[in-house]
Amino acid sequence: MELKICHMYPDVLNLYGDGGNIRCLTRRLQWRGIGAEVTRMPIGSPASLSGYDLVFIGGGQDFEQQVLLEDLHRGKDREIRAAVEDGLPFLTICGGYQMLGSYYETYDGQRCDFIGALDLYTVGSKVRMIGNYSFRCGEESGGSVVVGFENHSGKTWLGSGVQPLGKVLSGYGNNGEDGSEGARYKNVFGTYSHGPLLPKNPAFCDHILLTALERKYGTAELAPLDDTAERAAHDEVLARLG
Ligand code: GLN
Repeated sequence: MELKICHMYPDVLNLYGDGGNIRCLTRRLQWRGIGAEVTRMPIGSPASLSGYDLVFIGGGQDFEQQVLLEDLHRGKDREIRAAVEDGLPFLTICGGYQMLGSYYETYDGQRCDFIGALDLYTVGSKVRMIGNYSFRCGEESGGSVVVGFENHSGKTWLGSGVQPLGKVLSGYGNNGEDGSEGARYKNVFGTYSHGPLLPKNPAFCDHILLTALERKYGTAELAPLDDTAERAAHDEVLARLG
């Protein structure tokens, strides 16, 4: 067994160690004897997502999101929309998550027309939403409590076509107002969680890996790992959040 993972825009979308999620995904496969092949897809690379089993997109500042717009609209946007509809799993963080929506209007009025793969949009706000935070994933996403670090000015609003990834327990989440965090649509996981997210949330990482393995092989099982260190890091953040 093997998963082919595409790391999209590693050159411009990699805030707060988001690239560490790739290392976590590959290690948790390899520790179970499952192959993991990672291909980086920077700006200017060909747009095809065929042959991949999972796509990861990290976060970035407003400037970086504007830098990649031209490249996105040269074909990656169409490819991503088609792949999302085909059920390809995506893990997208903050700016990478916002990019899947229809647009992001920055606080200073710059409008980034994005991919339109998910029924959501984002509007920049004067007060940045920053800090450690936690949320509980919906049952369809494994139901685990996730801890992370958020830093965004964008307030994301979900349309009727998507579900939240989870409910905020502490912190802001999508917009600091409706208690939602992230988005779920088909096999897309969108979240504001930097950190990197996955090392401190092993159950959520395994849920994403199982989603990709089950789509590729029909069925899959992940042997338990010794997550003592991961759980200690997770619980430390929860304790700080009180
Ligand atoms: N630039 C976007 C915002 O400020 C995304 C930030 C991020 O990826 N951390 O909302």
